[in-house]
Amino acid sequence: MHWRHWLQSIKNKFTPLDEDALALAQYQVFTRQIPLLYFLLLINTWTLAYVFRDAAPHWLGVELLLGISAFSVFRAIGWWNMRDEIPNVAVARRRVRTTVILAWILAPAMAIWSLMLFDYGDMYLKIHVVFMMTAGIMTMTYCLSSSWQAVLALVATVNMIFFGFFIHRDEYQFSAMAIHFLVVTSVMVGMMMYYYRDFVRLIDARSLAERAQNEALLQANRDGLTQLPNRRNFFHTLEGICAESKKNGQRFAVAVLDLDGFKPVNDLYGHAVGDALLVQVGQRIAACVQARAHVARLGGDEFALIMDGLDAQDDAAFVALGQTVCQRLREPFELDGFTLQVGSSMGLVTFPDRAVQAQQLYQCADYALYEGKRGSRGTVSVFSYQHSLRIQRDALIEQALRTADLAQELQVWFQPIVDAPSGRTLGFEALARWDSARLGMVSPGEFIVLAERGSLMNQISQMLLAKALQEMQHWPEHLELSFNLSVQDLASAATMQQLLALIANSGIAPQRLSIEITETAAAHAAAQVQHSIELLRECGCGVVLDDLGTGFSSLTRLLGLPLTKIKIDRQFVRGIDAKVANRKIVASLLNMAREMQLQCVIEGVETPAERLTLLDIGGTFMQGYLWSRPMPAREVARWLADESVRL
Ligand code: C2E
Ligand code: CA
Ligand code: CA
Repeated sequence: MHWRHWLQSIKNKFTPLDEDALALAQYQVFTRQIPLLYFLLLINTWTLAYVFRDAAPHWLGVELLLGISAFSVFRAIGWWNMRDEIPNVAVARRRVRTTVILAWILAPAMAIWSLMLFDYGDMYLKIHVVFMMTAGIMTMTYCLSSSWQAVLALVATVNMIFFGFFIHRDEYQFSAMAIHFLVVTSVMVGMMMYYYRDFVRLIDARSLAERAQNEALLQANRDGLTQLPNRRNFFHTLEGICAESKKNGQRFAVAVLDLDGFKPVNDLYGHAVGDALLVQVGQRIAACVQARAHVARLGGDEFALIMDGLDAQDDAAFVALGQTVCQRLREPFELDGFTLQVGSSMGLVTFPDRAVQAQQLYQCADYALYEGKRGSRGTVSVFSYQHSLRIQRDALIEQALRTADLAQELQVWFQPIVDAPSGRTLGFEALARWDSARLGMVSPGEFIVLAERGSLMNQISQMLLAKALQEMQHWPEHLELSFNLSVQDLASAATMQQLLALIANSGIAPQRLSIEITETAAAHAAAQVQHSIELLRECGCGVVLDDLGTGFSSLTRLLGLPLTKIKIDRQFVRGIDAKVANRKIVASLLNMAREMQLQCVIEGVETPAERLTLLDIGGTFMQGYLWSRPMPAREVARWLADESVRL
């Protein structure tokens, strides 16, 4: 048992961690040392042939020598030419193995050739032969030292022939030389083994360093949680695929996906559960797409796909795969102990139709996702030509916004809010209008989001409120004003201070003012937003929850805010006279408002039939084109003056 252990430990010393790395390293050393080996071989043989020129027969001293020389030159040049080539492992292994085999053939051949000369010479020449063989074996052992098999082949065969040749001869001096030769070469092999062991250690150290480097590279490209490729890797892969596809014309798609309802999972069950869910989501996507797409996690609950394994001619195949993924993600997840259900939405763009660069493709897919989520969640939205027009238009508007003289160009228009049964005007909603010097009239639906993105909103809100309050000075005392604020205004303590100061300095009773806050803004978690709403209430203003029913926020949470009014979004009003479902929704919202003692304004009323239906289910305060579109400030006076005529 003991000796086996010992043998094993010796074997381990000479076995590298990575056999491939060893073969490559041996190959590299050989490309330098084998040409040297053949060079030395040539010197040895030619010198020997020279001293035997008169003694040896022509075929042995010249013809055979030329044959050996030609072969040596051929092999030496072959190796020399390969010195800068980096072969693959299989090739390197094969060349190293050939070298070992050649050592088994060439070494005895050379020994035999030398000894064939031996008997043609006198004593001087004979000693020369032995000298040449000794010098030869030493230098060649050195040249082959990176392969112990080659060294063994060399030393074993030469010794056998040497020994066999001399041991029976009469001259005992030569027998002694043969024994001497055997001892010296054996010691040399022992020394070479030390050298070889160090060589293996060096290769091991190199492989370990390489492995560590590879591991670090892998870590830098992998998402720690899901073990999927990360954002950095995603872009790297995408760039590669773009370059490839530009050459071979292959179509592919990039999709960005995020989970609907992930935040509540995190909030409700904690981050550990959220993380476990993300891991399963990653696995499910990967299992679903298999070789048809590369999957990556970009961060948070955002995943991305590069669908380059479909060989599709049109969008349909990509969309179908995207839909399959969304569908799979809708199925419940089993997390130890309980079941969770989330959904997912996907934005998708195809190469090369809409974009050809990695960053561009990602942005388009992300844009389609964002736009898609505003409309219908849980499905795939494809980046379209309309989207690209929208982006161009947005860029134009953004640029114009930055250079506009907003104080001059911004206007406030007013749309009446009426008591529907009587038709009497109760007040107005202030709506922003931007008469841009460069673009003409731009609707707030277009520029408000961009102003928010460009951090211009606070400034704009202040200008608009100042203008609206200015107009209000001319109105009869009983008329109220509804004014829209953006979530950015509510989130900024400084802006709120300035807006409240504007109201206080206007001399208008704050009770005549209501601030409209969209459902999404009200659902904003920031404490500052909640605080701003309380501040508004404290100073006497009303607070209206606008666009109710368009967001995806929890009603309980919204209604926990100190509101005075709700505003039912116009999507429920359109065609309400014909749509039973809408009628039920609006009726229940009206009921809820009544129960909570909140006023309720119904917006977007366009037809008499809608008005009648709404009256029927208990609606009173309404707003819409049926009465008036938003009007410029100067028309308000006439609108009010005409009221008695209209009623
Ligand atoms: P909103 O607050 O829901 O305003 C009502 C929008 O519905 C207005 O569009 C109005 O013109 C339109 N509208 C009114 N009655 C009807 C109708 O019967 N049928 C239809 N189809 N539409 C009707 P507008 O003026 O284009 O404003 C769009 C949105 O821009 C507003 O929606 C509001 O969210 C935002 N906005 C407008 N002015 C301001 C502002 O001064 N500040 C902020 N933060 N947002 C504003
Ligand atoms: Ca509004
Ligand atoms: Ca609204």
